[in-house]
Amino acid sequence: LVSRKVKQDDTVLDIDGVRIGGSEPPIIIAGPCSIEGEEQMEQTAAFLAGKGVRILRGGAYKPRTSPYGFQGMGVDGLILGSSVAREHGQLFVTEVMDTRDVEVVAEYADILQIGARNMHNFALLREVGRARRPVLLKRGLSATIEEWLYAAEYILSEGNNEVILCERGIRTYEKWTRNTLDLSAVALAKQETHLPVIVDVTHAAGRRDLLIPLAKAALAVGADGIHVEVHPNPATALSDNEQQLDFAGYEQFNAALSSLMRVA
Ligand code: PEP
Ligand code: MN
Repeated sequence: LVSRKVKQDDTVLDIDGVRIGGSEPPIIIAGPCSIEGEEQMEQTAAFLAGKGVRILRGGAYKPRTSPYGFQGMGVDGLILGSSVAREHGQLFVTEVMDTRDVEVVAEYADILQIGARNMHNFALLREVGRARRPVLLKRGLSATIEEWLYAAEYILSEGNNEVILCERGIRTYEKWTRNTLDLSAVALAKQETHLPVIVDVTHAAGRRDLLIPLAKAALAVGADGIHVEVHPNPATALSDNEQQLDFAGYEQFNAALSSLMRVA
């Protein structure tokens, strides 16, 4: 179902007027790694809305390496994220990690995110396939392109055609970046499927100094959007404080990329 052999024309998602895919200008998804509190979310949403960002991200359920790391605010985070996004005319995207949470996350989120660590969670893929919300599907840490596309197939096979593929870097021997951004996967996914494909530069790079060149490269190979993490004060962030942009950093990012993307 994901294949271009089955459907030749690009799938263009229209999520409350925000169009993604096909010949639409690339979109930007931005926001903090984790939802941490009202002030943090309000400041970030207001700032990003002012820069024309129509999709706000923020994790309420966090897939942390250590069980003792901050695990997210849960339902309180969903309520906060969705209300702040709505206030600023934005869509809200957030990760769902557990089949038992799909219903409540779908109640608050405009887009359900499947994280890299859950790309192979077939029960979860089926469950979001039955939800009536678009799904942002990250590529697994060490998933082949074929496995990633089959993961999307699980969602479509349950009747949900609104899937956005997201390349976020894969695990290689390289240590100077957190992951290795696989741009061939972006070009191939665009070629082999009709789905929109976006690139998460934050988790791919794991460092701020590469975000602008990687985003430019992603757009050059045909990405339909860029995902980037932005936090009012990354040094104090409860997750990913090495790689989130502060507002000044996002100003630079926006200045370098806005002519190539849809902002506003
Ligand atoms: C995220 O986007 O919050 C996240 C955890 O990313 P990934 O699943 O790609 O590691
Ligand atoms: Mn993060």
